[in-house]
Amino acid sequence: MNNCIFCKIINKEIPALIIRETEDYITFLDAQPVNFGHALVVPKKHFLNIYEISPEVLEKLGEELKIISTGIKKAVSADGINIDMNNDPAAGQIVLHAHFHIIPRFDGDGFTHWHSKSYEYPEQINELAQKIIKSISS
Ligand code: AMP
Ligand code: ZN
Repeated sequence: MNNCIFCKIINKEIPALIIRETEDYITFLDAQPVNFGHALVVPKKHFLNIYEISPEVLEKLGEELKIISTGIKKAVSADGINIDMNNDPAAGQIVLHAHFHIIPRFDGDGFTHWHSKSYEYPEQINELAQKIIKSISS
């Protein structure tokens, strides 16, 4: 992809602090970290988002996330780790090349949990579950 900033990092056209590289993934530090040690695990092929990533590349994701999370936790003595992926602008995706955020967390770092909603009527949770089950299997 010509104008993709992450493809440029992958092709070494622009610099990044790369902390690990495999056949399928590159991991570098986020330039504007939530906390120090915040990294991005990025498939080397240009996939737009989670819906597009190929099964072959996804197969290797779990191992990558585990290695990077464990390494960051130890390196910065984090109390916890968040793994996040933003898909579509509505979910906060700014860079349109699929990527996973590994964010070290510290006791009292001040980031609150997501706000939650209450279901509006008792059957709503069941209706939603059925709708999603149908959608997954169609
Ligand atoms: P997202 O909102 O999930 O698309 O997040 C994109 C992330 O990429 C942000 O956290 C940015 O700080 C980060 N980012 C953008 N450009 C660069 C870059 N050249 N090097 C490192 N991180 C970057
Ligand atoms: Zn790209």
